[in-house]
Amino acid sequence: MNFAVLTIFPEMCRSFFEYGIVRRAIQGGKAAAVAIDIREFTTDRHHTTDDRPYGGGCGMVMKPEPLAEAIRAAKRQSPESTVVLLSPRGRIFNQSMARVFAACSGLVLVCGRYEGVDARICRNLIDDEVSIGDYVMSGGEPGALVVMDAVIRLIPGALGGEDSADKESFSDYLLEHDHYTRPPCFEGEDVPEVLLSGNHAEIDKWRQETALMYTVLKRPDLLKNRCLSPSERDVLARWHREIENLIHGQSVCGAGSLSGGQ
Ligand code: SAH
Repeated sequence: MNFAVLTIFPEMCRSFFEYGIVRRAIQGGKAAAVAIDIREFTTDRHHTTDDRPYGGGCGMVMKPEPLAEAIRAAKRQSPESTVVLLSPRGRIFNQSMARVFAACSGLVLVCGRYEGVDARICRNLIDDEVSIGDYVMSGGEPGALVVMDAVIRLIPGALGGEDSADKESFSDYLLEHDHYTRPPCFEGEDVPEVLLSGNHAEIDKWRQETALMYTVLKRPDLLKNRCLSPSERDVLARWHREIENLIHGQSVCGAGSLSGGQ
């Protein structure tokens, strides 16, 4: 898959290509990445990429001509690529979008700066606008790298284990279970026994239940449109009974009466 990041700060992105899974995917031929300097497509002596906004007001706007030429150059290198503008006005990026992007032959990620880019670029040369959250940053580069990282992980073979991406948070509208590594006891806290048991059916059950628990507690919104499996429904029904018993115990005996009863 081809990635081209269009930016006035290409070095910011190039260093990102040199670490971890992104680097490995590039070296392994699963992805190709270039950072294209928008300034190279300017025609004036000062390599100007911004100008004052029509209608007045503060800040500067990214000029359309160099940006248009940079996008066209990236498309010449990878004609089937989808052109994505990083923008606070875009759809908020999530794992489903990452999956759709991972199925594209390439992404051209356009990074705005200043007050943003000339509206004619957005209308005529951009296929999709993506935001990485409801806050304003000073440039699109961190967003482009966020998108790139999340997408690269989903390219088959980019992660070490072939199936690791399927088991991560959001893969099935669930957050991920806890992880533990050695030592078995750290500062008085033991690793859950089941993980040391070698019983893989029980370990899977524990992981599924913990994933469900974290999702219910931290991100119940993820479950709204998800069809629960019969075993997940059983787990929720069990918790429901346990919580009801707890509440019932409190209302019958009064708060704290069980521990203070002797
Ligand atoms: N004036 C704009 C903000 C411009 S910020 C507004 O109020 O909407 C400058 C650039 O940073 C944007 O063009 C965009 O490329 C990038 N950017 C800022 N916040 C972003 C976000 N939440 N997601 C993606 N890109 C963002």
